[in-house]
Amino acid sequence: MSKIKTILVVDDEPDIVNLTEKILKLGRYNTLTCNNGKEALKLIEDKYDEISLVLLDLMMPGISGMEVLRTIKSNDMFKHILVILFTVKSFKEDIKKGKEMGADGYITKPFSGKRLLEYVNDVFETH
Ligand SMILES: [Mg+2]
Repeated sequence: MSKIKTILVVDDEPDIVNLTEKILKLGRYNTLTCNNGKEALKLIEDKYDEISLVLLDLMMPGISGMEVLRTIKSNDMFKHILVILFTVKSFKEDIKKGKEMGADGYITKPFSGKRLLEYVNDVFETH
């Protein structure tokens, strides 16, 4: 069996972070969490070799998800980290921009636990 993967969950809504963390643990993933872009960048810098994937909210005060995505995908040390964006359905431009910037997938909020796990598993299988 392959090593348990670590997923970083970044969202400024604590309820979403808590729910997502629970779901990922049920799916046997390790998790790291934070509530803003600044902390996310710090965690990525400190633990980039541990982190396999980031579930990243785009809409956060301060450093946006898009900036975090840009930092991950423009740095050779972080490039191996897959990024799935949390987006709101109506924000089609964000999805387009995110893909152009190298996001590996996106999931629209609200989502079910089942769908989230299936999607994460699928992104790991196809990348
Ligand atoms: Mg948000």
